[in-house]
Amino acid sequence: LGKNLTKTMKKLAGMPIIDEEVVKEVVKDIQRALIQSDVNIKLVFKLSKTIEERALKEEPPKGITPREYIITIVYEELVNLVGSKAEEVEVNAKPYKIMFVGLQGSGKTTTIGKLTRYLQKKGFRPAIVSTDTWRPAAYEQLRQLTESMDVPLYGDPENKDALDLAKKGIEQFKKNDIVIVDTAGRHKEEQDLLTEMEQLSSIVNPNEVMLVIDGTIGQQAREQALAFNQATDVGSIVITKLDGSAKGGGALSAVSEIGAPIKFIGTGERIDDFEAFDPERFISRLLGMGDIRTLLEKAEEIAEEDIDTDTMDAMLSGKFTLKDMYSQFEMMNKMGPMQQVMNMIPGMGNKLPKNASQVTEEKLTKYKIMMDSMTEHELTHPEVIKQSRVKRISRGSGMKNEDVKELLKYYNVTKKAMKGFGKRKMSGPLGQMMR
Ligand code: GDP
Ligand code: MG
Repeated sequence: LGKNLTKTMKKLAGMPIIDEEVVKEVVKDIQRALIQSDVNIKLVFKLSKTIEERALKEEPPKGITPREYIITIVYEELVNLVGSKAEEVEVNAKPYKIMFVGLQGSGKTTTIGKLTRYLQKKGFRPAIVSTDTWRPAAYEQLRQLTESMDVPLYGDPENKDALDLAKKGIEQFKKNDIVIVDTAGRHKEEQDLLTEMEQLSSIVNPNEVMLVIDGTIGQQAREQALAFNQATDVGSIVITKLDGSAKGGGALSAVSEIGAPIKFIGTGERIDDFEAFDPERFISRLLGMGDIRTLLEKAEEIAEEDIDTDTMDAMLSGKFTLKDMYSQFEMMNKMGPMQQVMNMIPGMGNKLPKNASQVTEEKLTKYKIMMDSMTEHELTHPEVIKQSRVKRISRGSGMKNEDVKELLKYYNVTKKAMKGFGKRKMSGPLGQMMR
């Protein structure tokens, strides 16, 4: 890993032209990442074809490396799919009627609570109609969700006729500014569910049908979106459960299939775990990249300053001596704090022990003075430094025994962390690049 990382960083920065081979290589990385994130295969190939064509045809602007430019193209093409910014709920009718659809368990009812709170904060007064006659206690769930929120709620647990409930609810709230309709997500037969949605839709006559998709379901999202879009006219999408490891790639395929924008994402079970959709963040996550732009910029700087690659390799391979650490200190002066560098590599930022990154200039100077009092053998084989050597080194450098021990402790912690990096398997295109 170590050698490849250094090599890749150099390659990234130094690539003079886009040749076909490089483009193919990058596109393959991207494909792998998208497929791992559950994006539909056909969509992946359609995307990569466009990306490849553009990368080969277009001239990167001055000051941008080819690889950076390819990543820019990837961003642009994905943004083309999901939209460049979150679209708002545009309340342009009174009442503005939002009907929620989606399979049971996708998070409709929870999201209705979240959206209600969101709209209240914007100064609206939404009312809610419960038409889910299939889930026991569906009404009760909504009542509890909205208990502290002062929301008018219509429902009747005794009434098993969803269409009738919808009719009455809409009638009751015709003077409100927003009416949100909750629906069932299950029937004995799927077709019955879709038929019910179709009928409900003609009764409610919604201004916006919001489809709720569970972000963890992967490929099925596409089928679901198609089915619901046929029964109703889906106007927007909410992806839930993006608080876990799911990347929502399935939902991306759904979006591209039915052409409705993602407006919100759910990031937890609580009422405030709800965010306006952020395309750039969503795409970075999809590609498994951290702050890719910053990393690339950094890579260029590093190459310019021509850092000691042997040290970098030692750092990452786990064969890490005090001598390497000494060089690392010198390198850190050029690159910035270790933590900052590692933060830019996805999944690595939080792997560095806190105290390993918090070494002040003053401490570094002290450490260097002590290392100057060590023999070559001690520097390359720090494990030989026991009590008597500690004494000698402290005396020689004019420090205390504690200082030497602290240096050794710092060394051990850092070495352990470096070993961790070396073994770590990273996913995503960066991980592949570094292997
Ligand atoms: P519905 O059947 O579509 O109405 O789904 P519910 O709203 O009843 O939600 C089903 C389950 O998913 C509940 O346990 C919710 O707490 C959970 N849930 C909903 N949205 C999210 C989310 O964004 N993150 C997580 N972790 N759980 C969620
Ligand atoms: Mg529900």
